[in-house]
Amino acid sequence: MKCRVGVIYGEEALLYSFPEFHPFRSDRVERFYREVMPTFLKHYPDQVIAVKPELASESEVLLYHDPDYVDFVKKKSQDGYGYLDYGDTPAFKGCYEASLHVVGSTLKLVRMIMRKEIDHGFNPVGGLHHARRDRAGGFCIFNDASIAIKYLLEVAKLKQVLYVDIDAHHGDGVFYDFYFEKNVIIADIHQDGRTLYPGTGFSHERGGGEAEGTKLNIPLMPGAGDEEFMEAWNKIEEFIDNFSPEFIILQAGADGLAGDPLTGLMYTEKAHEHAVTRLHKVSEEECDGRLLVLGGGGYNRENVLKAWRKVLSNLLNPPV
Ligand SMILES: [Zn+2]
Repeated sequence: MKCRVGVIYGEEALLYSFPEFHPFRSDRVERFYREVMPTFLKHYPDQVIAVKPELASESEVLLYHDPDYVDFVKKKSQDGYGYLDYGDTPAFKGCYEASLHVVGSTLKLVRMIMRKEIDHGFNPVGGLHHARRDRAGGFCIFNDASIAIKYLLEVAKLKQVLYVDIDAHHGDGVFYDFYFEKNVIIADIHQDGRTLYPGTGFSHERGGGEAEGTKLNIPLMPGAGDEEFMEAWNKIEEFIDNFSPEFIILQAGADGLAGDPLTGLMYTEKAHEHAVTRLHKVSEEECDGRLLVLGGGGYNRENVLKAWRKVLSNLLNPPV
């Protein structure tokens, strides 16, 4: 059987774009739509399903975010100037609606996967892993990954969700806001926090209270390449073996590839190929193929295309 993959595809996904000269702008996704999607749609017409972006409702955002913070974003979105955090995440006109589209699109894929309308999903503009319950951070306004996790546990009533994050930056929003939550299993490979934003993600952090042992951080030093990534990945697989997730989310940031202007890691797109192939297999074995991939970061435009091509082609073909 071949896998059906829902990919968020539509101009509303381009609304999440910071002002000029900011590294996180919609040309990343626009180029994916122009240079990658048409080929896949042509060659896999029965397998690639273009899914229109959708707005999240405010109550969905409130599954995770604090009401005061949501109001703050609304206001800054009308003003259209200033910063949402201490200087990485500028407000822009309509940033509230743009963020609702990111969240709504991720949730739409979650629902389609749960209803078996698609096997797997990919939201290229999703994976805004630095946003916290009460604040923006690192180009992230609303944390679609965290909201999806809350939705899966509280609305879909799943017992356990696995979140894996290979973005070069530590996924601090997801990691710390679920640190004491034993139903959220987290594994995160990233560049060492002493050398990169957000400065977190150390290996002694394993989850708190009854959640101890449900979290795994693997920091790598700048210069680490595919070899170090594969070694780290093997540890992730050993760790995952202890659990029985009912849904898997992968934040597949492409900023760990050599040549990224913001980070010092040196992977090739083989890292993405490996991560997606292996998690694809785990998802088929553990949870009926429920696997959602979020695009995350990546600021070298060519690298983003290379990594996302690998993501898509490895979601389409069942692992052997
Ligand atoms: Zn990143």
